[in-house]
Amino acid sequence: MTNAASAVSGARLVSAPTGLARSESVAYRIVAAVLWPLIMLTCITSTAIGMAHGVGPQVFVATYLALALTLFALERAMPWEREWLQNDGQLLPDFLHTFITKTFVYWFTLAVGELGIADALRIGDGVWPAEWPLVLQVVLALVISEFGFYWAHRLGHEWKPIWRLHAIHHSVRRLWFFNTGRFHVGDTLRAMLLGLPLLFAMGTPHAVLTWVSAITAFCGLLTHCNVDMRTRYLHRWFNTPMLHRWHHSKRLYEGDKNYGENLMLWDRVFGTWYDADYRPGIDIGIKEYMPRSYLGQLMAPLWWTRLQDRVARGAIDPRSGL
Ligand SMILES: [Zn+2]
Ligand SMILES: [Zn+2]
Repeated sequence: MTNAASAVSGARLVSAPTGLARSESVAYRIVAAVLWPLIMLTCITSTAIGMAHGVGPQVFVATYLALALTLFALERAMPWEREWLQNDGQLLPDFLHTFITKTFVYWFTLAVGELGIADALRIGDGVWPAEWPLVLQVVLALVISEFGFYWAHRLGHEWKPIWRLHAIHHSVRRLWFFNTGRFHVGDTLRAMLLGLPLLFAMGTPHAVLTWVSAITAFCGLLTHCNVDMRTRYLHRWFNTPMLHRWHHSKRLYEGDKNYGENLMLWDRVFGTWYDADYRPGIDIGIKEYMPRSYLGQLMAPLWWTRLQDRVARGAIDPRSGL
């Protein structure tokens, strides 16, 4: 497009991820700016309507699947990185990590309720402000749970014995909605053990916990998507794809940042919030070796040091990993 044509159509030229020039209309920029809040609010509203009619779980699942399909389509219509649309051969490991970890979380939370663990942890009759409006209670629960999840996540990066569990999530070479749930089951367990006890101790009502889970699920799927969502102001306080891409950087001064799950509050308090005016690198992943198969990834934390030693000595071909 020539400068004259660009001026007539109201479009401008920007540097695209592949280094090519991409024409970008005003309409495109508006859509990119409103997508994240629009989708998030739609998901929350839909779930609230379902809950009001006594079909909360069913509507939540339908909304979650609709969100996944929407992101799949948007990743093709307006991708952040076109190269990340290529198959990385991790479809099955991504699916198995997500399915097995989510199944574990389901049974774990059920067991916590059945065994009365949540009640046992409660301080007295609980100190939860149950008289507050539900919206404020959910905000409070998010702030409290994020404190635990923040430190669980930060430890996963800064403490080597836990990094080997968390490394599976970071071993992806591309970001897209489908690898949102790619967590080692042990990684998720230790995050829950650090993130939930405070809420149980305060006697947080079940309805509030349900809302925290639903918002975390929607926000998580959005956070990983490869869609051009521009959240310049929103990501100062909320976790968005634009912000989470820094977190997947191989460069530690970018990657060891932005630990929040939904909110960036604790990152701002503890000085780990990161954003910059240049584009995050496309080459993401980890420096260590990670096997390609699901079982290999599941077992890797158990013999992490020996595994890395064998790669360094040439006993394992580094090209066989991610
Ligand atoms: Zn991380
Ligand atoms: Zn991630």
